[in-house]
Amino acid sequence: MEQIITRFPPSPTGYLHVGGARTAVFNWLYARHTKGKFILRIEDTDKVRSTKESVDAIFEALEWLGIDWDEGPFFQSKRLEIYQEYIQKLLDSGDAYYCTCSPEKIKVMRDKARSTGGKPRYDGTCRHLDLKKTDTAVVRFKAPFTGTTIIKDVIKGNILFQNNELDDFIIARSDGTPTYNFVVVVDDITMGINTVIRGDDHVMNTPKQILLYNALNAPLPTFGHVPMVLGKDRSRLSKRHGAMSVTVYRDMGYLPDALINYLVRLGWSFGDQEFFTRAELIEKFSLKNIGKSAGIFDQDKLLSINADHIKAAKPQNLAKNLVPFLEKKGFSIKEGPYLESVIKTLNTRSKTLEDMARGALFYFQDELSYEEKAVKKFLKPVALEPVRLLVDKLEQLPNFTEKKLEEAFKSVMEATGLKFGKIAQPVRVALTGSSVSPGIFEIIEVLNKEKVLQRLNAAIKIILDRSQG
Ligand code: GLU
Repeated sequence: MEQIITRFPPSPTGYLHVGGARTAVFNWLYARHTKGKFILRIEDTDKVRSTKESVDAIFEALEWLGIDWDEGPFFQSKRLEIYQEYIQKLLDSGDAYYCTCSPEKIKVMRDKARSTGGKPRYDGTCRHLDLKKTDTAVVRFKAPFTGTTIIKDVIKGNILFQNNELDDFIIARSDGTPTYNFVVVVDDITMGINTVIRGDDHVMNTPKQILLYNALNAPLPTFGHVPMVLGKDRSRLSKRHGAMSVTVYRDMGYLPDALINYLVRLGWSFGDQEFFTRAELIEKFSLKNIGKSAGIFDQDKLLSINADHIKAAKPQNLAKNLVPFLEKKGFSIKEGPYLESVIKTLNTRSKTLEDMARGALFYFQDELSYEEKAVKKFLKPVALEPVRLLVDKLEQLPNFTEKKLEEAFKSVMEATGLKFGKIAQPVRVALTGSSVSPGIFEIIEVLNKEKVLQRLNAAIKIILDRSQG
């Protein structure tokens, strides 16, 4: 079978939003699954709306997602000569012609068609006039007036269009610049694209594009139009449904693999499996299981998939992603065994990296910050004796292992007659400043001995100060 060649052709008129990212992911996964090629093309012919910031934002988002491309990025703005060549081809073959009808004349034509109940269309006045190029002439494609054009869509099935719905659409403006549907086709032909997977907001463009392929004697690619991503209220996804930009999810502490997993599942399924690693997606992705109905974007589901990916990720991989979140909080912590052991205590309880960074702060603070409520509730005179006894026990231990810590706590329980929780809670507040934290033994093991003893002694002082005050 011929090698699959897919593409992602964003228009750089804004950031990469989750819908666009999903299209990129589908094309990328399909190329990777089939050992094909994935091409990146920047559709920047709209000079007014395209910006360099958007191009950079798109690269940044793709890079973060880990979506790599085999060819490109190609910029349409740099390919004008190729488009000219193809316009000439269509003029030479008689499939296109110059039209000098003024905008006023076209408006009259359209109004007339509308008034008789027809579609507002160009009536073909210049079709047979064999006009030459002038400063005001546009180039129109000779579209068939009769018959049907069929999109053999791998997702939606066959979609039929009546050719009389179309008119002789413009392929080059009077300044010579080519129009959207034309450049897409020329690019897809010249880049050897044989598989076009895109949002179904493009379905209306496809019949025009098919006619252009036919006129250029080029084989049609496989088309698949993916249903849109909608908000929970089933309206088109917009800002009010949550963040739209892919990089905002990065900044909120989502993992790229989690976002990819979630986006793919928004329009594709593999039985009822929800969690996929990147490697699994590459192995299992195919066009066959892309669904026909719209995906509903659900932030809570995304968050829970993210938590699953954090749980499943190797601590050393999380470490490099976590560092910037700690830096944002003023801690310059290096990747390494200590950070990894910190992560191991937090990865089953953090939904995002931001959560994790917040939860990790107590490990790094020189001056522990205490929650007032926790101090009030647990650092009370009754805690004095057990905390003091624990300090004695821990001082004697050469190193902290879970077994040794258990023994230490047990002996404090025996000596005081207190239950484990009555001892562990004040100790927790002493070590973390909070009444909610990872397991007490885990924390003690990870914090070094000096810090543990220093914090327990600080807690003793707090208890004494408060009881005196
Ligand atoms: N540039 C178009 C967009 O950003 C994509 C066109 C296509 O996939 O054919 O929506």
